[in-house]
Amino acid sequence: MPTERLRRLGRGIRTALGSRLARRQVRLVLIVALGVGWLLSALQIAVDYRAYRDSLTTQLDQLVTTTLSTAAAAAWQLDGQLARVVCEGLTAHPAIDGCVLRLPGPLSLGETRVEPATTWLPLSDGLFGGRQRRELPLRHEGPKAIGRLALDLNPASAVNDFSRRVLTHLLTGTLRALVLALVLFAVFHVLTLRPITRLSRFLSDADPGAAGVELTRPARHRHDDEIRSLETATLGLMQTVSRQMADLKAAKRDLEHTNRHLEDRIRARTRELEQAMRVMRDRAYTDPLTGLANRRAFFEAAADYLARWRRDGEAFAVVLADLDEFKAINDRLGHDLGDRALQAVADGWRRTCRQDDCIARFGGEEFIGLFRVDDRDQAREVAERLRREVAALRLEDLPWSLTVSLGVALVGPGDEAIDGLVTRADQALYRAKRGGRNRVEDDAAG
Ligand code: GH3
Ligand code: MG
Ligand code: MG
Repeated sequence: MPTERLRRLGRGIRTALGSRLARRQVRLVLIVALGVGWLLSALQIAVDYRAYRDSLTTQLDQLVTTTLSTAAAAAWQLDGQLARVVCEGLTAHPAIDGCVLRLPGPLSLGETRVEPATTWLPLSDGLFGGRQRRELPLRHEGPKAIGRLALDLNPASAVNDFSRRVLTHLLTGTLRALVLALVLFAVFHVLTLRPITRLSRFLSDADPGAAGVELTRPARHRHDDEIRSLETATLGLMQTVSRQMADLKAAKRDLEHTNRHLEDRIRARTRELEQAMRVMRDRAYTDPLTGLANRRAFFEAAADYLARWRRDGEAFAVVLADLDEFKAINDRLGHDLGDRALQAVADGWRRTCRQDDCIARFGGEEFIGLFRVDDRDQAREVAERLRREVAALRLEDLPWSLTVSLGVALVGPGDEAIDGLVTRADQALYRAKRGGRNRVEDDAAG
């Protein structure tokens, strides 16, 4: 369980330090806390130094004061042993490493030296007054000095002792600073960082355009401050954007649907229009009674025949046909039968004509055809076939046989336009009529 708790704590710290803002905050808090901690440590060290120095001075003063009379007695009695005892007593102090009783002249008593203490702290020579020699006058029942007590003062051991205290101050100062940094960061994290990070994550995760997905609002900030206002404003903004995007999507869907519908209607209308145009075109080129091509269609086809004749030398003939004594059918048996006769002739010819032949109703009971042929004989043969077909027609209600006269014109080198050919065919037809009808004449004789 504790492992689980530790793991959760680790996850929390990782999340807390996950944002750039948090890392910057940690740096800032560390700099401020360490700065303040070390400044306080420095102040404490300065105060401590003064107190330590004063205490050392007082100690030495007291020591010297208490031994000064004994030293004076030793000097008065010239008692070397007593002088040594005094000096050994003084050098027992860690700040004194040399002692001697100087008498007037070159004499001295009880000189004692101990191994001088050293310090490992660099640049510490000036601390606690540094190494110095202090000479104190010795008096015996009068103001006149009978000698001097010379002491070699060495504060190295005090410096070492003080250095340890400095280190302790620095360590505790750093520790205090780190704890302070941690507390400051935790407070800042809870009050500011966490809600801002949560809001920022909400903003980057939320997709206001996702269809049908409710925006999950971030956990509400506990304090009624600017962060909460920011949360509320952001959420409101996101909801507005989300609503507008939904509206926009719906509008787009409607538009697409309308467009599709419109496209379908346009396609259907285009089909109807194309169909109507086909019908109109067919009507414009078709004779309504017989269903054959009409004059217009004939002249357009004739232009093609003529062009191919000029380009490839493909010969053709124009055959003009006129039903004989047709007026008599109308007059005697009725116009309706006349119509049926025209349709029967057209049906018969349409059945027997080849694919690339063109036969058209030229007007009234006149028909005109375009036929690919090699020579005049073949052209006459075609016209003969048409004539025979009409002669063989049997029509109900028509008591006599229908006949037709035909004029044939073969295309020749001088033909520039179709009109000349039609005229020649018409002249040949005229000759056929004059010759007794139900016959074929061509333009060779004319
Ligand atoms: P011919 O042998 O000299 O050609 O004698 P015809 O009677 O055929 O000559 P004509 O040109 O005098 O008469 C043609 C007739 O064809 C006149 C007209 O009533 C008839 N006709 C023309 N077009 C139609 C039509 O569409 N329907 C019917 N029923 N008759 C038509
Ligand atoms: Mg006629
Ligand atoms: Mg006729």
